[in-house]
Amino acid sequence: MQAFADQARQEGKRIAVVPTMGYLHEGHLSLIAEARRRADIVVVTIFVNPTQFGPTEDFARYPRDFERDRQRAERAGADALFHPEAEEMYPAGHSTVVDAGPVGGVLEGTIRPTHFRGVTTVVAKLFNITKPHCAIFGQKDAQQAFLIRRMARDLNFGVEIVVAPIVREADGLALSSRNVYLSADERTRATALVRALELAAERVRAGERSAETLRTIMTARLRADAPTAVDYIAFIDPETFGEIGTLRPPAVLIALAVRFGTTRLIDNMRIEIADTHG
Ligand code: AMP
Repeated sequence: MQAFADQARQEGKRIAVVPTMGYLHEGHLSLIAEARRRADIVVVTIFVNPTQFGPTEDFARYPRDFERDRQRAERAGADALFHPEAEEMYPAGHSTVVDAGPVGGVLEGTIRPTHFRGVTTVVAKLFNITKPHCAIFGQKDAQQAFLIRRMARDLNFGVEIVVAPIVREADGLALSSRNVYLSADERTRATALVRALELAAERVRAGERSAETLRTIMTARLRADAPTAVDYIAFIDPETFGEIGTLRPPAVLIALAVRFGTTRLIDNMRIEIADTHG
């Protein structure tokens, strides 16, 4: 892969990488299409990275179908697939990691304490292996996108980080490889996440600025669909990823994680906030 990337760079070609864990859906394909628009060579990586799963998480049962992924990625415009084995990525004695810093410890990091260290470490490795000029990530994983941008800047990777919008089903549910875990009934109820976000957006447009009030409204909307648990509803400053109590211009990111049965779903929405003093 490194030799392939070196060759492309010598020929003056621009490389874009799309890191994924496979089981490709339309969300992934939109990232590949974005990469296609931005580069001469599109590399898609497919690697279910063991170090970003906690000991009680779904690593073993995470859905995998390489043959289907290969066809989908090719059709979407990938020039190369990088699909390593875990032993190649983490040979015996591997011990160096990339610490994701304090933002790696909030929200998803509270519930998954080693998750983001696994993500930043594997993405750093994938950047060194695929030698891209730019890399495309999805806004679906907003905290991940923030941390990758931060890492690329802090560690001078020289890789342009592009974050593409969330692709949703017709009823609004954000596409995710994990949606296959949902029963038919849970699948119907899972639209609660986007409905709660839309309700909050409506209230913000109507002038509501209190995170606490919005959280109460969203919790009530979620409860109508009887989730197993609401892990968090967070109001985030998109610039710093810090939590905020009072919404201020120019924008807020509302992020939430909700469980239906054993399936954990995340979603988020950026809401622009009008400057009432301007
Ligand atoms: P994953 O295979 O789940 O690790 O995701 C690989 C990349 O696809 C990440 O950058 C995700 O944020 C992105 N992604 C996942 N779901 C969606 C979606 N519904 N819309 C846009 N991007 C997505």
